[in-house]
Amino acid sequence: MFIGHFAVGFGTKKLAPRAPLALLMAAVAWADILWTIFLMAGWEHARIAPGDTKYTPFDLYDYPWSHSLLMLLAWGTALGGAYWLMRKSATGAWVVGGCVVSHWVLDWVTHRADMPLYPGGPKFGLGLWNSITGTMAVEIVMLAAGVGIYLTATRAKNWIGRYIAWAFVAMLLLVYVADRFGTPPENMHEVAQTGLIATMVIVGWAWWFDRNREFQSTPTN
Ligand SMILES: [Zn+2]
Repeated sequence: MFIGHFAVGFGTKKLAPRAPLALLMAAVAWADILWTIFLMAGWEHARIAPGDTKYTPFDLYDYPWSHSLLMLLAWGTALGGAYWLMRKSATGAWVVGGCVVSHWVLDWVTHRADMPLYPGGPKFGLGLWNSITGTMAVEIVMLAAGVGIYLTATRAKNWIGRYIAWAFVAMLLLVYVADRFGTPPENMHEVAQTGLIATMVIVGWAWWFDRNREFQSTPTN
């Protein structure tokens, strides 16, 4: 799953108003951030295998540290714990931790049975990726819902908060479509590198417009 993760980042801002949107975006994408780094380091492995599912040309056969449920619970606890130490907000900490773990749930729905329960453990996946229309419908509806929640819970303080936010949504949709219908990548190293850069841009961009928006009501947590 791709933009569906960022939909969760958008939607959860309402639950944790004081958490920067960039942090929520980094939390929902945490598994993929680690994955791109671990792929480049050679700690995790994947190969290009067109047709592995209808939607994606990747055989994701080894990613226990970034994508197993147990490790994501651990990463979620670490990130949520760090947030609690810095901001002393229990709600915020739960939301940040929950965002990290939500990645497993959404990937479990999307991937074929390649999502490990724990490193070396059994793998699960409902295989939404076997339907291109199904995948795109689910992700676009999710994004629309997440963006809707975010845009109604907050208001723009200036033009950056308004137009850069909309440009961000347009960019996500464009990258999503280009990624699906573009030429397949050459090798996994290239995938990891572009993936990491793209995620950094997404997180930075979210930080930019989010700090130029404010909550409709005074946040309590
Ligand atoms: Zn993932």
